[in-house]
Amino acid sequence: MNLIVRSIDFSGSIADGPGVRSVLFVQGCRRRCPDCHNPETWPLDAGSTVPVAELAGQIRSRAFNKKLTISGGEPLLQADAVLALLERLPDFDVALYTGADLGDVPEELLARLDYIKAGRYDREKRTTTTPYVGSSNQQFIALERRRR
Ligand code: SF4
Repeated sequence: MNLIVRSIDFSGSIADGPGVRSVLFVQGCRRRCPDCHNPETWPLDAGSTVPVAELAGQIRSRAFNKKLTISGGEPLLQADAVLALLERLPDFDVALYTGADLGDVPEELLARLDYIKAGRYDREKRTTTTPYVGSSNQQFIALERRRR
């Protein structure tokens, strides 16, 4: 199975969930939110197609503290491949950023996550003070107890 990837940031982000995190930006998003920071991730026919096994190996070797955020782009457009990736990283602390509502995230994916940012960005509710979200209608939720 392959995942279509825009880029991976191993430099250590402190804005994409708790702690210092590597960030995997997946390719493809149809939402077209105003103020999107990553419009280069929108096209569905761009990015690099990477075998999940290769991607997991790269992340395991370079994400020194095993903290990973999956962002985009819209990760749920590639939910099966994201799930396959997480099955190869069971010991990682994982956050997923989606524009979907929490109720639309597959349960089997939620079970593999430690944190989720859910909800569509709303420019009218933009916030710069609530951690890890862009607008106040979005949720950033710790899911530790749901994890297997
Ligand atoms: S969901 Fe995220 S990647 Fe997609 S347009 Fe909105 S802010 Fe950009």
